[in-house]
Amino acid sequence: MTNDELWKLTLSGIEAELSHANFATWFAQTAIMEQTSGKIVIGTPSAFVKEWLENKYMKLVLKYLRTHAPEVRSLEFSILSQGALTPSKAQLPKPHEEQMDMRELYVDKDTNLNPRYTFETFVVGRFNEIAHAAALAVTEKPGVAYNPLYIYGGVGLGKTHLLQSIGNRIRALFPAKRVYYVSTDRFANDIMFAIRTPSEKDAIKEKYRSFDLLILDDVQFIANRTASQEEMFHIFNAMSEANKQIVFSSDRPPKSIINLDDRLRSRFEGGMMADVVEPDYETRLAILQAKAIVKEEYRPAADVLEYTASVIQTNIRELEGALNTIVANSKIRRRPLSIEEVKDILSKNTKPRRSLSAQHIIKSVAQFYDVPERYLFEKTRRKEVVRPRQVAMFLLREDFSGSYPYIGQKFGGRDHTTAIHAYLKISGDMKKDERLREEIKTIRSHLYDDEKS
Ligand code: ADP
Ligand code: MG
Repeated sequence: MTNDELWKLTLSGIEAELSHANFATWFAQTAIMEQTSGKIVIGTPSAFVKEWLENKYMKLVLKYLRTHAPEVRSLEFSILSQGALTPSKAQLPKPHEEQMDMRELYVDKDTNLNPRYTFETFVVGRFNEIAHAAALAVTEKPGVAYNPLYIYGGVGLGKTHLLQSIGNRIRALFPAKRVYYVSTDRFANDIMFAIRTPSEKDAIKEKYRSFDLLILDDVQFIANRTASQEEMFHIFNAMSEANKQIVFSSDRPPKSIINLDDRLRSRFEGGMMADVVEPDYETRLAILQAKAIVKEEYRPAADVLEYTASVIQTNIRELEGALNTIVANSKIRRRPLSIEEVKDILSKNTKPRRSLSAQHIIKSVAQFYDVPERYLFEKTRRKEVVRPRQVAMFLLREDFSGSYPYIGQKFGGRDHTTAIHAYLKISGDMKKDERLREEIKTIRSHLYDDEKS
């Protein structure tokens, strides 16, 4: 494999894990410059990019280099003068051109909307049809139909895409309306800044109240941020009194957000709530087919798409990633790939679940329930600790195949019967308790999502 071929394959994997803007910003002008006895030197356009890649993306780059070139041991970044980079850049065939047109990268500064996310490119299936219908209803009668709209579900299932589509559609239908999309994290930081800087406080309140449509993505991150919750509640009241629309997304229903002010919780629940779940096989295939069309002559054969839809069962982001990898490989070989080749490529890119560590599971459970990890190991029988501890034991058994004595030992030297009891309790409760099922689903979606990085 030549340097360029190897780099193209590597980039197709990295691309699937990053936002398009990030990908283009940090990887657009990079190339493999040298490859000698397990060491690879990557050329970058500036010291800034070099440093950023070293600090943030070293692991990711190595991971994808190694899937295609297992012999790679170490990695170095270097800065190249413009002249040096141009020739190899020009040779780089453009596997990503359809993703990298300007539309992808452009985010409107006033609204934070990306024009890529529209209803036109959103595939609807059983798994998301209620959320989709509710979103459409909001665009027809903003502030009236469903206010607030609260969309929830696991990672990579299209929440951001749907929320942004609402924003883009309303902008098109009602140009005078002021639309604003913001991640909840950034919203909370804005509020914190205002609280610390009294001269700014009113300005920020005014800013948020002035929008006709406010879209807050990933609202679960408001957990524990008391001051932001308070302010969100006031903004919310002011907006809904004025018939202005608010749309939320979250990875879980309001009742599962820990440490959430009750007033806010009942507000979240007071409009329309709709979930998105994992797509079934037919829908996965439809999504792949829709996304394959724009690949034009590199569009994979029908049986390849069917195979991919049957093995990638997690979420839509992963489906897109698999498709990009297949297309990039097919471009390099200048021919369609056989099923056997696709099997081979995809099996290299999907990690077996068992590679999870026990520590990883415990950390995710503690984070989800917002209890300090060490509480899980202590003897306390406090209700808010007992349940998370049992869930952690359950996941260690189910997803990590830990033996009962091992699990008991892990949790502060408990007896193996404690572990058995926890396992049976949770699996029994899951049958009748939908909330618990959802909680465990969410924890798993975090586990298997994080695992990639
Ligand atoms: P979430 O916010 O739920 O984590 P995203 O909205 O970021 O998920 O979706 C992940 C990727 O999958 C995005 O590239 C998005 O465009 C794509 N996607 C998600 N749902 C759909 C869908 N129903 N139709 C087409 N593409 C989708
Ligand atoms: Mg999202």
